[in-house]
Amino acid sequence: MADPQQLAELPGGYPSAAGLTDDQLHGVTCRCCDGPATAGAPLTRAGHVYTSTGPGRAPLGWPVVAHPDCTISEDQ
Ligand SMILES: [Zn+2]
Repeated sequence: MADPQQLAELPGGYPSAAGLTDDQLHGVTCRCCDGPATAGAPLTRAGHVYTSTGPGRAPLGWPVVAHPDCTISEDQ
């Protein structure tokens, strides 16, 4: 599921939110497969992604979630 586009980084090394849906950004669905939480696969914190807010301004961070089996290795 990991689209290379989603692995893009913003200036400063922030992982980009490019390619994620609104539900993914708001922690409603899995950041990897865009699926909802289920009884056997709850969504857990899976780091942050960032959207640009303009030149010279700090990017906006979004805490995202993922299924345990989908979790991207990320230390944030
Ligand atoms: Zn998933």
